[in-house]
Amino acid sequence: MAHKVILIPGDGIGPEITEAAVRVIEAAGVDIEWERHEAGIPSVQKCGLSVSDELLDSIRRNKIALKGPITTLVGKGFKSANVTLRQKLDLYANLRPVKSIGGIRSRYDKVDLVIVRENTEDLYTGIENLITPGVTQAIKIVTERASLRIARWAFEYAKKNGRKKVTLVHKANIMKISDGLFLRIFDEVAREYPEIVAEDMIVDALAMNLVMDPSRFDVLLLGNLFGDIVSDLAAGLVGGLGVVPGANIGEEYAVFEAVHGTAPDIAGKNIANPTALIFSALLMLRHLGEDAAADRIFKSVVVNLAIGKHLTADLGGTCSTSEYTDELIKEIKSRN
Ligand code: ATP
Repeated sequence: MAHKVILIPGDGIGPEITEAAVRVIEAAGVDIEWERHEAGIPSVQKCGLSVSDELLDSIRRNKIALKGPITTLVGKGFKSANVTLRQKLDLYANLRPVKSIGGIRSRYDKVDLVIVRENTEDLYTGIENLITPGVTQAIKIVTERASLRIARWAFEYAKKNGRKKVTLVHKANIMKISDGLFLRIFDEVAREYPEIVAEDMIVDALAMNLVMDPSRFDVLLLGNLFGDIVSDLAAGLVGGLGVVPGANIGEEYAVFEAVHGTAPDIAGKNIANPTALIFSALLMLRHLGEDAAADRIFKSVVVNLAIGKHLTADLGGTCSTSEYTDELIKEIKSRN
């Protein structure tokens, strides 16, 4: 039976890379019925909302979406479609595995860490006030409920996936009440998992240690803002934003998307690297129980990267998005 998946191509490089992912999944023989939806600026123009009620209802019915990046306007305009989806569908866990891949030249070759980012609160609640002209305020919300469920999620993930250590990243020395709560709840939950090492680290120390020796980290648990920043830093350790996947997961729904944004500088040029979105689609295939197809696609990507003949510009090659995808499909078909 076909799986039904909502496809949000997004904008910028989104349509090019989502199309690549759809072709790759088809080539691996997975039967998916895609239902395409707009979000972001075109949706605002149509119905005044960056995420329409129709799109939300459809994800609620079908449970799963694959999403390209969507532009969020800086300093003005409507609420971010990315944040809206996470908040409305309560996709509270943002999973970002960061792993060295043979064939990609990068600073380190033994990185294998998983970033778990709390996805629903912190400074992303969008509550900002102009107190008086020249004085502004942004409100950081940290609740016991959200801290508890994300800490449990991180330890459960570690347990199920054979991970040995969870490091909580915070700034509780300065934000004693908000990050202090996040840290206290983490310590309480850690006691339920004596088989997993639990440690905490202040975010500035983490930034330095991650750059000096990323191999010392296993699962990193972060609040929303630090999670956003550290994910990009970690992507840089293994070859850049073009290769790091992600998933937004809640109790009922899951939306899979790459860590990177819309990359407007290279949009529409057929030169974006679709690997990050393809790897996000592999997380989705595993979520759907299509492990064999996911394994086959992953091996094919790794083989092609190792051969190194068909790399996109971000990885030092000259290949277009569609040539990269064509070559990948040839490799996948040779394994079917
Ligand atoms: P947004 O505002 O949507 O986050 P951005 O350009 O600020 O967009 P990213 O889209 O995350 O941030 O990208 C930062 C840079 O990384 C881009 O300018 C682009 O050159 C590069 N980049 C990101 N994703 C890819 C990709 N898939 N392939 C190649 N280069 C990429």
